[in-house]
Amino acid sequence: MGSVKTKVVLIRVTDEAEGLIASAGKLCYAHDSQKVFQMNSNDSGQFVQKLMQMGHESPIEHVVFTFYIEGVSRAMTHQLVRHRLASYSQRSQRYVDHNEFHYVVPPRLQGKTVEIDGESIDAVVYFEQTMDLIAERYAKLQDALGQKGEKSNEDARYVLPNACETKILMTMNARELLHFFEERLCIRAQWEIRSAAEQMLKLVKDVCPSLFAKAGPKCIRLGGCPEGTGSCGNYEGIKRKYDPEYKSEVKQDIIDLPCKASSKSLHVND
Ligand SMILES: Cc1cc2nc3c(=O)[nH]c(=O)nc-3n(C[C@H](O)[C@H](O)[C@H](O)COP(=O)(O)OP(=O)(O)OC[C@H]3O[C@@H](n4cnc5c(N)ncnc54)[C@H](O)[C@@H]3O)c2cc1C
Repeated sequence: MGSVKTKVVLIRVTDEAEGLIASAGKLCYAHDSQKVFQMNSNDSGQFVQKLMQMGHESPIEHVVFTFYIEGVSRAMTHQLVRHRLASYSQRSQRYVDHNEFHYVVPPRLQGKTVEIDGESIDAVVYFEQTMDLIAERYAKLQDALGQKGEKSNEDARYVLPNACETKILMTMNARELLHFFEERLCIRAQWEIRSAAEQMLKLVKDVCPSLFAKAGPKCIRLGGCPEGTGSCGNYEGIKRKYDPEYKSEVKQDIIDLPCKASSKSLHVND
């Protein structure tokens, strides 16, 4: 039992992914369909980028990515599975007992204190003590339920926290993955899912550089932030981070303004 951190592994990608997308795109305009699948894949990257610029995105749905994600909380996967155009397999809290569950500690607790009866207790220590207490109560409830295994796990788990670690396998096609990045790389998304999204982006950029060349939060595609008062106020900085071709015309000292999102934007309800 102890704290864990997000780890994402790219388990599988469609073979010759960008070549397949190029073939799918070219098939739409080809008289000789056989040639489309025998193409030299050297020009695939350029063709994929052209498709993306044209907004012709259905060909990219033929490519799928399977990620194994661990070291994340149930709070995070509750947000993740809201993305409906994907397939998920998640470790069960019924079939797997959670006597020694791991958990995720929100980093912002570091350096904070909890006041109890005039005493200041380190917030991380307090959080960990709470996890230990829950584990103890979970075990007692399992005993009360009379047996080990599925029948006791399934009801004892009601006391497990959102922080409880889970493991999940997710398969998503490239089009939905780009949408997922638009939503979850935005500073408005919570830190934990954002951290997983950052790891995923790095992994897929290595295997499909053209497809994900300009992937990022939605402000990159929209050319500005639609979040109104929830904006991070750092569009230039975000653009520089995610769009390698971006040439800023704004002076450096303006770009480096601290992000205005701060605590307000990090407390969305998702
Ligand atoms: C910062 C942030 C805060 C959030 N806060 C909350 C919150 O407080 N409460 C809450 O409930 N949710 C919240 N969400 C979750 C959000 O509402 C979506 O459920 C989630 O982001 C999944 O994205 P999506 O709906 O675009 O679609 P996905 O499931 O990823 O689907 C992709 C796209 O397919 C299309 N699509 C999918 N299913 C349908 C359908 N049935 N009908 C029509 N079109 C469809 C849509 O165009 C959709 O955008 C939040 C999300 C973010 C990023």
